[in-house]
Amino acid sequence: MKSHTKYLTFNTKNKKEIVNITSQVEQAVSESRVKEGFCLVNAMHITASVFINDEESGLKQDFLEWLEKLAPYDVENYRHNLTGEDNAHAHLKRTIMGREVIVSITGGKLDFGPWEQIFYGEFDGQRNKRVLIKVIGE
Ligand code: ZN
Repeated sequence: MKSHTKYLTFNTKNKKEIVNITSQVEQAVSESRVKEGFCLVNAMHITASVFINDEESGLKQDFLEWLEKLAPYDVENYRHNLTGEDNAHAHLKRTIMGREVIVSITGGKLDFGPWEQIFYGEFDGQRNKRVLIKVIGE
C-alpha cells in the first residue's frame, strides 16, 4: 500500500473566507501515484472546515451569509467568549460545515460526483492555519 501526506497552509486575507482547494488536492493525489484508494482532506483547526460543494456564482457568499445568520459574530452573548476569546461563532460555523471529506480515487483521479469540488472554509482567519491531505491506496 502506498501513502502520501501533505500539509497546506492558509493565511486568508479576510477573517471569513471560502477557498476552492480542488486543484491542490488533485496535485497531492498525482504526487502519491495512488491509482485506487482514498483521499482524506481535513481542517486541522477547530475554527475552519473542509467541505464539498459546487463552484457556482454567488454560492460562497451565500454560505457565509447563511452561516452568519445561524452563528452570528457576537462578542457578548457566547459563554466561550467569557474566556477572553471572540471566536465562539467560528467554532459553531466549523461544526455546521464539517471537519473533513473523504473522496475515492479511481484510475488515479478523484472520483467526484457531478459538479463536486473541495473547499476550505475559514471562519477565524488572518493567521496561519493548516489542512491535512492523506492519500492511501495502491
Ligand atoms: Zn475559541
